[in-house]
Amino acid sequence: MTPRDCYLAVWNAFAGRPFSDVSGRGLLVFYVSPGPCPSDVLSIGERGKFYPDGRIAIARGTLPRDPCEPDPAGALPDVASELAILAHEIGHFLCYLHGPSGYERHKGIVNAASPPRTRPRRAWARRAKSMRFIVEEERAAWEHASALLAQFAFTEWDAFERERHEALRGYESHLAELLGR
Ligand SMILES: [Zn+2]
Repeated sequence: MTPRDCYLAVWNAFAGRPFSDVSGRGLLVFYVSPGPCPSDVLSIGERGKFYPDGRIAIARGTLPRDPCEPDPAGALPDVASELAILAHEIGHFLCYLHGPSGYERHKGIVNAASPPRTRPRRAWARRAKSMRFIVEEERAAWEHASALLAQFAFTEWDAFERERHEALRGYESHLAELLGR
């Protein structure tokens, strides 16, 4: 299968898939232009994002005419790399379906915090614990992505590993920084 055919097959297999246990709607996959405001769907620099309400956003500088239809021709920086990002975000969706996800556990820790009386060292320990859940979740989403793409006869594993390495590096170095304090 060419990367383009694989892209279309993965998109079509997941977009619209019933998401009944969460929202009752189908999974919506769409392109969006990242922006500088916290209210923007994607921040500048973000390649993709899964939202637990059943949406997956993929970053594009220029949006295709219909942002809800697959557009491998406009993929950034190339079809295989953007497909790796798409599969990774679907990986978060699969993590979520199998929940409770690392992000939920992370939120639990953040919500359970009592900022006014927390000593700085304890705050760092809590942030490190949260970060560990996030790193775990990110790795799991990449594992799902790799299993998924293998099912779709994906062949561009160099591009996939580049994306995985690049994406995990930031999270892992942030965790190492927190643990090293
Ligand atoms: Zn991720």
